[in-house]
Amino acid sequence: MKYYLEKRNFPKLLSIIIPCYNEESVLPILRERLDSFLPKLPSKVELILVNDGSSDHTIFELVDWANKDSRVKIVSLSRNFGHQIAVTAGMDYAKGDAVVIMDADLQDPPEVILEMLNRFQDGYDVVYGQRLTRSGESWFKKITAWIFYRLMKVLVHKDLPLDSGDFRLISRRCLDALNGLRENHRFLRGMNAWIGFPQIPVYYKRDPRVAGETKYPLQKMLKLAMNAAVSFSPLPLRFSLGLGIFVAFIGFAVGMYALYRAFQHFILHMPIVYNPGWATIVTLICLIGGSILISIGILGEYVARIFEESKGRPLYVVEFVKSQQKQKR
Ligand code: UDP
Ligand code: MG
Repeated sequence: MKYYLEKRNFPKLLSIIIPCYNEESVLPILRERLDSFLPKLPSKVELILVNDGSSDHTIFELVDWANKDSRVKIVSLSRNFGHQIAVTAGMDYAKGDAVVIMDADLQDPPEVILEMLNRFQDGYDVVYGQRLTRSGESWFKKITAWIFYRLMKVLVHKDLPLDSGDFRLISRRCLDALNGLRENHRFLRGMNAWIGFPQIPVYYKRDPRVAGETKYPLQKMLKLAMNAAVSFSPLPLRFSLGLGIFVAFIGFAVGMYALYRAFQHFILHMPIVYNPGWATIVTLICLIGGSILISIGILGEYVARIFEESKGRPLYVVEFVKSQQKQKR
């Protein structure tokens, strides 16, 4: 699709959304880096720091920061809701003409924001960071991430950019559209691709984490992948249909063969060894049983999501919001 791009001014107010989960060791470094970097930006900045139910001293670090810096607004969630929801909370509270989403651990270098703003000025609504390299991450993480992004492109959306995370700039009009999608199981990148609008990458080198360790262990990555796959496409359901057809076909073929052997043995009285074939039976039972269970499991994932959505719960619960400015919300 071709877009007509119109030049525009830098955003008057830029909201930078940073989700924080047990980042006490990272926050002092982040604060220093932002203090020296933010004055270089052409826009006024508000920092939306979302405390995602941290169990360490993160919230005290944040409150201290907010008390000394009028740009900081804390949105503290009532428990750990997970990265995607924490970012969503930040997007709901952001007031800027554009928002930037970045991680607390400085893996996404803030300096890239300058380039994002230039693209915004060119008229793009979404400027996403695309990683050229990932340093300081294990080969396991790199391989799983590589597979993840390729798989997601097939399952989620054809426009889903490869190798880009949630580090991005989003314009107000696109953000308003995004904030209108209130599904419980969220895969923000996919939702962003679904929304459309002119989108463009900026390339950057992903740095190692400055301190602390990853809050995305394999289990959380799998959950995100599952959400992405199941919330976006009926493909897994089709897979189970395909599996069913395949197994049924094998069953049919083996059945025909058994009939043929029986025919040779009983009708033609051919001198063949007619064994009872328990191996075939066991194999078939396993195949059929397995594929039925897989299919029910996949179906169950969708039913579970319908169940979750039908409850109509809010995506998150805020414990408190704190900033030096008066709150209107
Ligand atoms: N995060 C969060 N809630 C969670 C897990 C992570 O808010 O349940 C935040 C975390 O504090 C960080 C960002 O999400 O700012 C990305 O997490 P992390 O750096 O651990 O992920 P990785 O870069 O290793 O994929
Ligand atoms: Mg990180």
